[in-house]
Amino acid sequence: MLDLDGSAGEGGGQILRSALALSIVTGQPFAIDRIRAGRKNPGLQRQHLAAVEAAAAVGKAEVQGAAVGSRSLVFRPSGLAPGRHRFAVGSAGSATLVLQTILPPLLLAREPSTLELEGGTHNPWAPPFDFLERAFLPLLARMGAEVTAVCERRGFYPAGGGKVRVGIRPAGKLAPLELLERGPLKSVSARAIVSALSARIAKRELGVLGERLTLDCAQVVEEKDPRGPGNVVLVEVESAGLTEVFTGFGEKGVPAERVAGGVAGEVERYLAEGVPVGEHLADQLLLPLALAGGGAFVTGGWSGHTATNLDVIAKFLPVRFGVSEAGDARRIAVTS
Ligand code: AMP
Repeated sequence: MLDLDGSAGEGGGQILRSALALSIVTGQPFAIDRIRAGRKNPGLQRQHLAAVEAAAAVGKAEVQGAAVGSRSLVFRPSGLAPGRHRFAVGSAGSATLVLQTILPPLLLAREPSTLELEGGTHNPWAPPFDFLERAFLPLLARMGAEVTAVCERRGFYPAGGGKVRVGIRPAGKLAPLELLERGPLKSVSARAIVSALSARIAKRELGVLGERLTLDCAQVVEEKDPRGPGNVVLVEVESAGLTEVFTGFGEKGVPAERVAGGVAGEVERYLAEGVPVGEHLADQLLLPLALAGGGAFVTGGWSGHTATNLDVIAKFLPVRFGVSEAGDARRIAVTS
């Protein structure tokens, strides 16, 4: 039994999600305490519980401590159950974070899987659906795993109610991936999405982005089957080496101009830095690369999530991470 301290490093939900994924992959049971001790509402929240329940189903696991507010958990997987699964996160908890938890083991399964996930698809502090579709999944495809994702309905905090369908064709073995250079810029496109809110909000956001960035395409999207109000603005930067997606989440009381201005700033920094991998992609790529047993990338964004993931992965898998300075950026390499 591996003992983990949930308050280590970033101290949020990441260590738990990564541990669940790795435990199923390796068959190694674990116990974690002080779950989310670093957050103002510590312990398992509804969306973490949804990830635990999804992991228990996929890993045929016996679980102790799976309750809202619980600060410790024991997880004992006993196999892998690819196939058809449906998971509902309940409130507007993030459906994409549930996917982040169960995707790694399902990528290595013998059989394909079809998942139906209900919950938030565009939540602050979680990968928005468009980031998964346009940035993350194409990189997994380059590693040999074919994952298709369709967002049938967008769900925003607090109403939730989004729906995502995911098809997973496993890779058998993931191939290593190197993302050391971004290559020439191909296009920058922006999308402002509103759900049960005026399209004027989206237009104001695109106005700000148009002033700050050279856009090849700017699109207003209105959610056709809204379950509640929401707004998100996304900028997709397509380069020869990869596509990155940057997101601003609309918030009640925060002017649309400020939401768009924040994203514009992030994109400007990314373009100026010249590195391929942004902050969020960096922490999310570590697990697939570790499962592949090799690969490397250069990133300017070193986050608590990245550091936490490096630590928890090294506890489960016989891999080594080398982190070296590459100008103002860092090069992270995985070897087995
Ligand atoms: P946690 O804060 O521990 O619940 O983890 C949040 C996860 O969501 C991490 O993997 C982040 O990289 C990811 N994430 C948060 N915001 C974004 C964003 N704007 N785009 C992509 N991924 C994100």
